[in-house]
Amino acid sequence: MARIRTIKPEFFTSADIVALSPLARMLYIALWCEADKEGRMVWKPKTFKLRYLPGDGCDVEALCEELVAHGLVRLYVEGLAWIPSFTRHQHVNPRESASDLPAPEDQKPSLPRKVGKSTREAVFERDGYACVRCGATDGLTIDHILPQSCGGPHIPENLRTLCRTCNSARPVSGDGLKEDLARDGHTIETLRVKFGIDASISDMHAQVGKEGKGKEGKGKEERVEARASRFALDSLPADWEDFCRQERQDLDPFATFDRFRDYWRSVPGAKGRKLDWLATWRNWVRNERADRPKAKQSPDEVAAEAIRLMEQRDAQARAA
Ligand SMILES: [Zn+2]
Repeated sequence: MARIRTIKPEFFTSADIVALSPLARMLYIALWCEADKEGRMVWKPKTFKLRYLPGDGCDVEALCEELVAHGLVRLYVEGLAWIPSFTRHQHVNPRESASDLPAPEDQKPSLPRKVGKSTREAVFERDGYACVRCGATDGLTIDHILPQSCGGPHIPENLRTLCRTCNSARPVSGDGLKEDLARDGHTIETLRVKFGIDASISDMHAQVGKEGKGKEGKGKEERVEARASRFALDSLPADWEDFCRQERQDLDPFATFDRFRDYWRSVPGAKGRKLDWLATWRNWVRNERADRPKAKQSPDEVAAEAIRLMEQRDAQARAA
């Protein structure tokens, strides 16, 4: 079963991809759709030809060998293959079913994107099933003290129980975050040291400033203006995902994030700069239209349509 995958703009200019022949590049992308959530697949070059290159006169075995020779695909045990960079580049929908193929020996387990069930339960229990800020016992969520978008890990020391209201009131960046952490006696620096996080990650997010409203003079406004930044996240942070799931159960957070990111990256100039990207995300999620299932076309219909278009193009070329 093929799956929807994402492709980053930098793919086309990365050195290992530029070195490939055009059809091998095409096949490599197709194999992402073929691969399961761990990047593993059954290695069937003839089937790949029918599925992904139906109208091309090409030697699919040679294309497959090219991908293996470049280290983009690795064969392991009899008849299986995996894509080593897969889990680094794809953010896979957590609802996608688990791999039923064995793990290659040298594949490191992928890092969980979400807090595990047992960790969640342990944190709720430790905190007495109540919001640690206001004591509410309804609508409890797991909060990352140092937000995940700043590199905060899914470990109990960085997690606590907050009610939905207290959680969504927390700023996740800039001065707002610093003030919020100070309420509990933390600073970004001490948490960073405590959790062993690379400073460059935290700094990038800390600079995406969030300022309190209504107290700024002219000078402060200018300073704030200077600190707005363009959208820089590649994948959906867990706290953003949690917000989307809580607020809008009808949306797929990953597909929504892809639209959000593509939109904001394409907005030029000052309009594409924001002080608080989390707030922008919240508004986007609240206003996003519901995901509607599209009319399904079978792979054969899609291939037939592609062949029809190619024949049309060939006929036009002959006529010209
Ligand atoms: Zn609360």
